Amino acid sequence: IFYNYTITGFSCVSVIYIVKSKKIRNFCIIAHIDHGKSTLADRLLEETKTISKKDMRSQVLDSMELERERGITIKSHPITLNYTHDDGTQYSFNLIDTPGHVDFSYEVSRSLAACEGALLLVDASQGVEAQTVSNTYLAIDNDLTIIPVINKVDLPNAQIEEVTHQIQELIGCEKEDIISISAKTGSGIKQIFNAIIERIDPPKGDEDDSTRALIFDSVYDNYKGAIPYVRVFDGSVKPGMTASFFSHGFTYEITEVGHFVLKKIPRKELKAGEVGYVLANIRDIGHIEPGETLTVKQKKADTPLPGYKKMQPMVFSGLYPSDTEDYDQLRQSLEKLRLNDASFTFEPETSDALGFGFRCGYLGLLHMEIIQERLEREFELSLVTTSPNVRYKLKLKDGEDIEVDTPANMPLQGEIDIIYEPIVSAEIITPKDFIGSIMSLCQKKRGNYKTTQYLSTGKAQLLYELPLGEIIFDFYDKLKTISKGYVSFDYQPLEFREGSLKKLEILLHGEPVDALSSICHSDDAYHRGVALCSKLKELIPRQLFEVAIQASLGSKIIARSTVRAIKKNVTAKCYGGDITRKRKLWEKQKQGKKRMKLVGKVEVPQDALLAVLSIDKD
Ligand code: GDP
Ligand code: MG
Repeated sequence: IFYNYTITGFSCVSVIYIVKSKKIRNFCIIAHIDHGKSTLADRLLEETKTISKKDMRSQVLDSMELERERGITIKSHPITLNYTHDDGTQYSFNLIDTPGHVDFSYEVSRSLAACEGALLLVDASQGVEAQTVSNTYLAIDNDLTIIPVINKVDLPNAQIEEVTHQIQELIGCEKEDIISISAKTGSGIKQIFNAIIERIDPPKGDEDDSTRALIFDSVYDNYKGAIPYVRVFDGSVKPGMTASFFSHGFTYEITEVGHFVLKKIPRKELKAGEVGYVLANIRDIGHIEPGETLTVKQKKADTPLPGYKKMQPMVFSGLYPSDTEDYDQLRQSLEKLRLNDASFTFEPETSDALGFGFRCGYLGLLHMEIIQERLEREFELSLVTTSPNVRYKLKLKDGEDIEVDTPANMPLQGEIDIIYEPIVSAEIITPKDFIGSIMSLCQKKRGNYKTTQYLSTGKAQLLYELPLGEIIFDFYDKLKTISKGYVSFDYQPLEFREGSLKKLEILLHGEPVDALSSICHSDDAYHRGVALCSKLKELIPRQLFEVAIQASLGSKIIARSTVRAIKKNVTAKCYGGDITRKRKLWEKQKQGKKRMKLVGKVEVPQDALLAVLSIDKD
């Protein structure tokens, strides 16, 4: 029996049904980047009339400004669709659109934990790519039903035969199981709806049980506090109940629950199998942690849901406000942003050169860029970041084992017995023509060749073991240049391995500068030392005394340059001049980067402190 309520006053007409849980399907769309996930989501929204024609635009779920600019999905987007099957049955579909890039696989794995099935999308002109493979494995690990879909069949260079073959190789399905569609023209979409209903299991839980809801995401709203996004597995959640958690004893009165239909749409209740949000005026951000189980006092569960495995950050860098007065604001912003992205970490750190800031951990370089950009945009901060690095494990001569994720904290060379660096197993899928150049790049990056496997569309899959420290800078960019963009790349952490690594220090006027030290392979140390000294010579303005710039490895000076002194009366000319008024933030950022830091006796512009970064890009 269905009770139908028609709620008016929303820009999209939403008919909300109270459905028995067997009429619910929870699924996500997984694919390699650009294979058409967001476009397929658009078609599903359109077909179910979830969005009115006037609100429709391309990749409508990519709501973040940054996502629209870059044309990529960064966050998972949940949305509820109401679908009427040909036999008249009403279904409620909870769809989660996911990002494809390797750095956001944490988003993907969280979305998967909230679903029973996945649409696996493969571009008919590209075929199976690196993230197609890794996301498929994630879905299989989560026991999801996979519906294979070939997209973009409208393209003239669609290779349906070959791609069908590749998909069969990947998941071992029958040819007939694969659905061919064009998310652009909408052809084949109907079959997708049928497959979702027929192949994906309805959610299992019982709405009369004790309540267990998995928090798979959350956001912070200035007016409403922290808002957890939940998938209810057992029981139900409704206004008036008291939310409680497993990791702490704080409780909150639930004031509203609801679904996502682009906006948040309030509902009377969220029952087992459903996906939605919970408002409970949660002011302490620390009380909501994705992966945690929400239960209610009225129907309290004894054990939490399994949650998901914590991601280990892979890349670290220091993050400092360019204006030291913004330190507190930066801390608060990091806390708020963490609600929306639990995969980055931060802890306070101080640098002689940059002052008070944070050491942040990210899943990868793109992730680092996105976090920094979100902080600057969403919280109007101007930031200075240090060169990224990986985490090392050290065995000291006195027998102690330590971990180091800040080059400045690296003990003296004489105290170190062995340095172990993180190694990843990397998978590169490329057209055959580029194999040679890719192999020589991997060789240069100290790669350890494993295997080559030829795939059906004139492509090959190369497996390498590579030091993570070598690929965090520009490896992917180089790969793309070599292959004219036709390569895809993914990696998984493998192990820590002994490496011939050294701490390279830079001394200004005899003083080591923490923000400029880095850890590098002994073979690269000399080249890097020389490059840094000459780069810094360009960036550091002349002072009243001669400034020596030295690179030291262990206690040996391996390179040197000198900034000559200037006479006093010339200084005046360097300052003053006409300053045009610019936008506030822009000005603040520019000033920040130009700002001089006093390092020992030497005045150093902030961008000189970031010289290590640009060296690695050369
Ligand atoms: P996502 O990264 O997987 O979310 O991919 P998007 O949905 O953003 O699509 C990437 C690009 O492929 C966009 O330019 C789309 O317009 C285009 N695209 C998606 N589906 C199709 C299709 O079926 N046919 C064609 N020709 N282009 C498509
Ligand atoms: Mg997308």
